Formats: sequence, structure tokens, C-alpha cells
Amino acid sequence: MDRSDGIKIFTEFVYPGEQKIVEVTVAQLHTMTPLKIPIFVNRSTTPGPVVMFSAGMHGDEINGIDIVRELIAQNINIPKIGTIICVPLINILSFINKSRVFPDGRDLNRLFPGSADGSLASRFAYFITKEIVPIVDYVVDFHTGGGKRFNVAQIRVAPDQLELMDLAAEFNAPFTVMTQNIEGSFRSICKENGVKMLLFEGGMSLNLNQEITTIGVEGSKRLLQHLGMASDHVIPSAPTYTNKIIHKTTWLRTNHSGLFKTFVEVGEYISIGQKIATVYDPFGQYEYDEIAKKEGYLINVNHTSLVYQGDAIFNISKEHKHE
Ligand SMILES: [Zn+2]
Repeated sequence: MDRSDGIKIFTEFVYPGEQKIVEVTVAQLHTMTPLKIPIFVNRSTTPGPVVMFSAGMHGDEINGIDIVRELIAQNINIPKIGTIICVPLINILSFINKSRVFPDGRDLNRLFPGSADGSLASRFAYFITKEIVPIVDYVVDFHTGGGKRFNVAQIRVAPDQLELMDLAAEFNAPFTVMTQNIEGSFRSICKENGVKMLLFEGGMSLNLNQEITTIGVEGSKRLLQHLGMASDHVIPSAPTYTNKIIHKTTWLRTNHSGLFKTFVEVGEYISIGQKIATVYDPFGQYEYDEIAKKEGYLINVNHTSLVYQGDAIFNISKEHKHE
């Protein structure tokens, strides 16, 4: 999309060639503290696409925040053409609280498009829908697994948005996983507005994993290069893996309660009959081996140390090509 004049974010204009940090006040706290979201806007003088990298939709998903931070720190967000917008921390209030959700328990990523006079989280969603979505062509939104569930680095694509598969291949995460859009999510609102959005998942909440950060940063570089937007100093490294496309996944649940130890790594291919975990009681009375009854790639591994009967412990691929 050609935008030779100013891009307007709230009341502020950013013109071609300008680099600006727009601070948007989205709420006023009872502590007399304004709640501001810093938005890093970098524009080339040459027209081109508008790409946004965002993270922290869930305030406890630190690994995604680290990826967007790196894009800024390494000047990857200085575009050769077009505009790059970085929002490392969308949900700043939940980040301060080290929480996935808002103080009232609402999940920002289920409230889109939001409303101007709804709950605080809904007003945040409304701001993003009204101010951000209309000005961007592409979005990469970075997430992690919730709780102690560690996601393998992946791009998620909805089965009815196969046009995104090419972009996912350019990003080249270790896995591309087909998952439905969730109603009320940022991804669903991007789709409705014709914004091409790649949802990145990797790592787990309240955790920093350098490998996940590196995959996110390198994928972002490859995407920018594909769009012709990467500056000359931005040279993506060749991936050490091949991208695997996963059409379906299923959760493996434990039938036991107790302390939980795994013997496998996320991303690994497990075989039927393989011992993948042990559940044992704290008193030395029993020990149950979890034996794989299915084969597939481990898309998610629960890193909890304690499970209850019926807890989801592994997410495993169902339809895949084993290379
Ligand atoms: Zn998330």
C-alpha cells in the first residue's frame, strides 16, 4: 500500500523518512499514572508496505516481547522501503502485573474488535482495531504457550487462510501449524480487515528462551527481505532445520496425579512405545511411566512439576510428513 503522506496514530502523524516513538495514552490509572503504549514507527522515504511486529498481547509472554525488542535494538526495524511499526508491549498493564490477563480477569485477545465504552481490556482492543489495524498491511504477533506449556517455535495459519502459507514459508519457523482463528482474537480482526497476519508461538509464559528469540528474529528478517523491506545490514542466517507443516494436533493427557518428569524435548519426533514421562507420588509408593500410544512431533510440552489426572501433558502432531 502506498502512503506518501503521513500515517496517523491517534493524534500524531509520522511522515516518510521519519523515525518516531509515538506514546499513546490508552487509560488513566487511579495512581495519577497515565497508561501509555510506546509505538516505534520507522518510515523510509521510499513507499512500500506497512509491517507491524507486536508482542505482549498477553502480559506474561515475555519471550515474544524479547523478539520485538531485538528487532529494535539491532535496527532491523529501519526499513529500506515502506514502514515498520514495532509494539513490543501491547498489554502494558498486564505486563506490570506479570499476568496473562487484565486485573479484572479479561483476556485482551478474546475481546476484539472491542468497544469505546466497554471494560478496560475492551477499550484497549478497540484502540488497536480503530488506530492500528487500518494502517497496516502485514502483522507478525508474537505469543508463547500459556502457563507452563512450552510451545515449539511455530507460525499458526488458519485452514481458511491458505494464502498465508507462502508468507509462513518465507518466515520459515521450524513448524507451521494449522489452527482455526479464535473468535474475538486479534488474528480474526486482522483477517476481517484484509491484514495478512502471521501468529508466532514459541516458548512459555514468564520464561526467556534464547533459541525462541533467535528463531523469531531470524524469521522476521527473512519476511522483511521477502517483502523487499530489509536494510542492507539485515542479513538473515540460513535455518538449520526444514519447515514442517502440521495439519492437526491432539493433546495427550495423563491418567495419574503426582510429580511429573519428562524425557523428551519439544519439537522431537516420538514413536509408539517410547517412554515419554513419569508420574510418581511424593511418598515413594508408586511410579507410572507414560508410554506414547501415538507417534508424531511434540508441538507442546508441559513443563509443570505437578500434574493431576486428566491434565494435558503433550500436544502431538496428528497429520504430518516425517522427514
Ligand atoms: Zn498469547
